[in-house]
Amino acid sequence: MTCNICANRLDKPVYESETSLTSVFDIFPQPTRVRICGSCGHLQTDEIENAAAFYDTEYTFLTESEEEDHIYEVRDSNKIYRTDHQVAVLQRKLELDADTKILDYGCAKSSMMWTLQKDEPALRPFLYDVSDCYVPFWEKFAEPSNWAVYEIPSSWDGNFDVVTSFFSLEHITRPVEVVDQITRLLTPGGVFYGIVPNVLTNSADLIVIDHVNHFTRSSLDCLLTSAGLVVQEIAADTHRGAFVFLAKRPIESTGATWTANEKEIVATSRVLCELAEFWSSAAARLRDAEQDTTNDGELAVYGASFHGAFIKSCLLRPERIRCFIDRNPFLQSGDLGGVPILPPDDLPQDVRNIFVGLNPLHAREVIENVAAFSGRDLSFIYI
Ligand SMILES: [Zn+2]
Repeated sequence: MTCNICANRLDKPVYESETSLTSVFDIFPQPTRVRICGSCGHLQTDEIENAAAFYDTEYTFLTESEEEDHIYEVRDSNKIYRTDHQVAVLQRKLELDADTKILDYGCAKSSMMWTLQKDEPALRPFLYDVSDCYVPFWEKFAEPSNWAVYEIPSSWDGNFDVVTSFFSLEHITRPVEVVDQITRLLTPGGVFYGIVPNVLTNSADLIVIDHVNHFTRSSLDCLLTSAGLVVQEIAADTHRGAFVFLAKRPIESTGATWTANEKEIVATSRVLCELAEFWSSAAARLRDAEQDTTNDGELAVYGASFHGAFIKSCLLRPERIRCFIDRNPFLQSGDLGGVPILPPDDLPQDVRNIFVGLNPLHAREVIENVAAFSGRDLSFIYI
């Protein structure tokens, strides 16, 4: 077992799951095993079996409609959606105009380019993904000659001012090959701009089975530098729970190689071990709390996304969950694993226990600000 980033040999797993969940909240029949690279500080999950088939046919991301999206945050009762936040950050960091040749790599339905084009109608974005299930979305704003599925034509090499990658490198089993390809696609002086989850601030990323890569600042730096790019920025404070990075293809190759900062790798590895311990004991802690709720009112789970699905997968009697509660209107008419998703105002009166399926870093603050819960006799159970 070797590191996807620096090819160093990996040690035995620091985390091994009982039940595994995918990033689209399905149970996956293979243990999640996570290992640390002591050389570049990368955190890596063993590859899922038949990964190509999984992404081609089973993995569909937000394909209910063009508008369907995740909530990034709720500020003064206003919901800010993830795509809108990402577009705002991208426009702040890069000067894009109608002439910018931009490729969204691993783009899914590319809500980013769809949204960007509303601001810049003359923009002609290029799109690439490893599944053709998103083509019906692309047809609405791009030209067929500007998209590729499965393979990228060699005529695209050296063509792009900007290549973007929004939450895709974490899925890719050979990120070195992909970033080498992205570097080739860029024109000299062109920029690779991307976002990947930051496991240090969004710790549940550690237990997502199809996130084979969990980047740290050092492993991301290693990946980009080793591809011949010059890292301009790796920001941990621009997008909550994620790294936003910018790296430039130099006009002429610099021949620079990546060297590790030993202190940083040791410190990173220590924190990653602590996170692995937290998640290793999470299922047992949730089941203990479940036992304490027996016959003491009905159960609900707050958060109908990954954390909520994780809670459901851990409980001894998940059939006790009456409903999921979520503020995202795109989720509220649906269900998660057959359990209905309701807005906070519709929480049934006989529910007394709420498991909180949110990022543990922000969970308490979010719950304190749910107006519909104030004055109710509710017990909250955190992961
Ligand atoms: Zn490594």
